[in-house]
Amino acid sequence: MAGKVPITVAKGDGIGPEIMDATLHILMEAGAQIEPEFIEIGEKVYLAGNTSGIGPEAWESLRRTKVFLKAPITTPQGGGYKSLNVTTRKALGLYANVRPCVSYHPFIPTKHPNMNVVIIRENEEDTYAGIEHQQTPDVVQCLKLISRPGSEKIIRYAFEYARTYNRRKVTCFTKDNIMKMTDGLFHKIFDEIAAEYPDIESEHWIVDIGMAKMADTPEQFDVIVMPNLYGDIASDVAAQIAGSVGLAGSANIGDQCAMFEAIHGSAPRRAGQNLANPSGLLHGAIMMLVHIGQYEVATRVHNAWLKTIEDGVYTYDIAKDRPSVGTKEFAQAVVDRLGQRPEQLPAVDYTTARERKVSAPAKTAPRPVPRRDLDGVDVFIYNAETSPEALGRRLEELAGPEFQLVMVSNRGVKVYPGGFPETFTSDHWRCRFQPLNGREMSHKDIRSLLERVEHAGLEWIKIENLYLFDGQRGYSLDQGE
Ligand code: NAD
Repeated sequence: MAGKVPITVAKGDGIGPEIMDATLHILMEAGAQIEPEFIEIGEKVYLAGNTSGIGPEAWESLRRTKVFLKAPITTPQGGGYKSLNVTTRKALGLYANVRPCVSYHPFIPTKHPNMNVVIIRENEEDTYAGIEHQQTPDVVQCLKLISRPGSEKIIRYAFEYARTYNRRKVTCFTKDNIMKMTDGLFHKIFDEIAAEYPDIESEHWIVDIGMAKMADTPEQFDVIVMPNLYGDIASDVAAQIAGSVGLAGSANIGDQCAMFEAIHGSAPRRAGQNLANPSGLLHGAIMMLVHIGQYEVATRVHNAWLKTIEDGVYTYDIAKDRPSVGTKEFAQAVVDRLGQRPEQLPAVDYTTARERKVSAPAKTAPRPVPRRDLDGVDVFIYNAETSPEALGRRLEELAGPEFQLVMVSNRGVKVYPGGFPETFTSDHWRCRFQPLNGREMSHKDIRSLLERVEHAGLEWIKIENLYLFDGQRGYSLDQGE
């Protein structure tokens, strides 16, 4: 129909179909100009043998409508099934995950009556790139990837969000006291971009104490931006302490596509009983209405929801020991209040210039490509039998004439030369070779080194080249080095 915006809708698994029906009922009654296209994803698709949980027709719809309203899905237990959420976010380039966590005191019990925090999480990188390998019988690894463009995009998005929604402060959480290069880059870029927004306060916390503070005094925070894994954990903590994980919605925003959902899962134990709270998905849907520019409908739905909460209509999860209603009755109560505004809780207004869609972050000017010099190689060796001393001495003999063995480490701790007998070692050794006397080195030198290692009967499992970027070390030193 003319004027209606096509959106792709997945009803999902578990409580998904009930909360999606409730949400669509409210949107349609509120006059949302949308044309849902239903796709099948999740458990059924996985169990039919598609390990990604999503088929080609679903991708076709998503790539055409570019707007996805998604109920939670169940990822079957067991190996081989890829997370559909992670796949969708990455395939559609949904780099920003936005999760507002608000308390509704005194109507919904919470220890934090003045909480209003927005967690903005990087959605594509970090350990969620999902690059994992088993390298030896004892050791598996997961690559943590943080990129400059990825970090710039999400951090700019956080500041643009703060500006659009008239928020005073953006806080960054990282663990850069330990991960000086990956989290260090995220923090550095945060400081660079914060300087471009002098109207907005900025601060950085180490993630562990920052998260503890957020759980204790969330009213001290406003917008918090962080890498993927920390944001995943922090947003569940924030939603739960605000009142319930059943309340918070989530927007996944990309340059071209966007996906809207609840932050909670498919709660299979509550499925089919008309019990689940549809509010998380409804909050996701309100963010979708703002995204497609239907500001009046978004305002009407959000204010009707706030009035419903003020009037004491609750699903079981927020009722606690008070009377509760089912999913359908809750949705009907919101429909009955369309056109009303809350009296005690602050009303929202997406029709003003503020509280609207966040403009796409400006692109950063291209940076000069730094000079890159090869400065050595870390050769990883699988060896379950030798002692650090024996391995170190053997490698020293193999190093020349191009290299010197600088150190051998095990699980990031230097064990040769001069290790401690107390240090526990696994079967996975990192052996650092660097050129003798500042000699220039090439990939050919590395290949000859690896050949010598192989001829000596040692098994190398991978290498990492060591580079200097404009003369600056592009690799970490080991603990004890
Ligand atoms: P969950 O969020 O589904 O449920 C945890 C508990 O929270 C439930 O038992 C229920 O008591 C409560 N709860 C959650 N949502 C509620 C609601 N709307 N109303 C009332 N109570 C609610 O987490 P889980 O049990 O760890 O995961 C179940 C399944 O969901 C798993 O298969 C998981 O992979 C999947 N999951 C999907 C998504 C998604 O699709 N975005 C997100 C998280 C988990």
